[in-house]
Amino acid sequence: MNLPSPAVLAQLTDVHAHPTDSPIDPQAMQELQITVCAMSSRSSDQSLVRKLAQSYPHKVVPCFGYHPWFSHCICLRNNTTKNDHYRQLFSPSDSAEHLDAFNTLLSTLPVPIPLDDIISSLRQDLQSFPNAMLGEVGLDRAFRIPYNYDESPRKLSPFTVPLQHQLAILRAQIDLAIELGRNISLHSVKAAQPTMELFNDIQAQYGTGWHKISLDLHSCGFSPEMFKDVQRRYPNTFLSLSTVINGRSPNHLSLIQLCDPHRILVESDYNDINMCTSQTWEMVQTVAQVKGWTVETDWDEGQEPSEFGVVRRLKDNWLRFLHKL
Ligand SMILES: [Zn+2]
Repeated sequence: MNLPSPAVLAQLTDVHAHPTDSPIDPQAMQELQITVCAMSSRSSDQSLVRKLAQSYPHKVVPCFGYHPWFSHCICLRNNTTKNDHYRQLFSPSDSAEHLDAFNTLLSTLPVPIPLDDIISSLRQDLQSFPNAMLGEVGLDRAFRIPYNYDESPRKLSPFTVPLQHQLAILRAQIDLAIELGRNISLHSVKAAQPTMELFNDIQAQYGTGWHKISLDLHSCGFSPEMFKDVQRRYPNTFLSLSTVINGRSPNHLSLIQLCDPHRILVESDYNDINMCTSQTWEMVQTVAQVKGWTVETDWDEGQEPSEFGVVRRLKDNWLRFLHKL
C-alpha cells in the first residue's frame, strides 16, 4: 500500500482499534505515525490499555469499557453466586443436551463481577485520563458465548446474553460517561431498533447533557434508512467505518454517501498495531472516493476550506467529535 508522507499521517486518527489484543512490539509503537484510540472490552484488558496510554500518551487515546460479548461476566446484583448468576442469565432448558452445554460452559466462565464494582473501576480509569473515552460498549443480538474466547476458531455454545442484561450494563456505563462528560465508541450489531430506543430514553432523561458528549457508531451496520434517522435525530452521533468489518458489505458505501460530511470518521478495528495505519488509510481512500474529496499527498495547514482534502476534513471531524472545533 502507498502511504502518504509522515506529515499527512500525523494528522490522522484511527478512532477504533484493539491494539492490546495482540502482543505489542515497542518498535511498532515507536514507528507509529497516526493516533490510535485503543479500546478495551473486558476485565483483563483495562489495565493493558492503561499501560499503553501511559507509555505513549501522544499516540494513544485510552478507551475504557465493557463490550457486550463479555457482559455475561458482569452480575447486576452484588449478592449472587456464580451458579445462580449464569443459570438465571442463560436459563438452560431441561433437555440433557442443553444442560450438558450449560455445565461445560459454566466450568469455563469466571466468577461474575458486580456491576457496581465495574462502574467504580471504570470511573477511576476515566478520571485518571482526562482524554479517555468510554469504549468499547454496546449491544449485540448476533453473538453466542464461546466455550473458550481465546481459542481459534471459537467453538460456540448455544447461549446468548438477553438484551435486557446487555442494556442494563450499557446504560450504567453511558450514565457514567455523561456524568463525566466523556465521548463514546459504540458497537451495535443486529440491534438498531433497541439502540434507537436507548438514544431516545437518554435524550429524554438528559436533554442537553447528552448533547455535550459525542457518540461514534463504530463499524456501523445500520440500514441506510435507519442511519439517516439516527443522524437526523441525534446531532451528537458520528459514523466511523472499517475495511475489516464494513468492507464486506456494499451497504457501507451508501452510509458514507449519506453521512453528514462533518460527522464521518475512520477506523481500523484491528487487533494488531502493525496494521492500524494501512487499514485506516484504506478507509480514508474509500471515503475520499465516495465523497469526491481529494487525497492529500503532502500537508499544507493554510489551505482555504474549498481546497480541503479528505485528511483535513477527517481531522476537523475528529476535533468536532472532541468538541474542539
Ligand atoms: Zn471493536
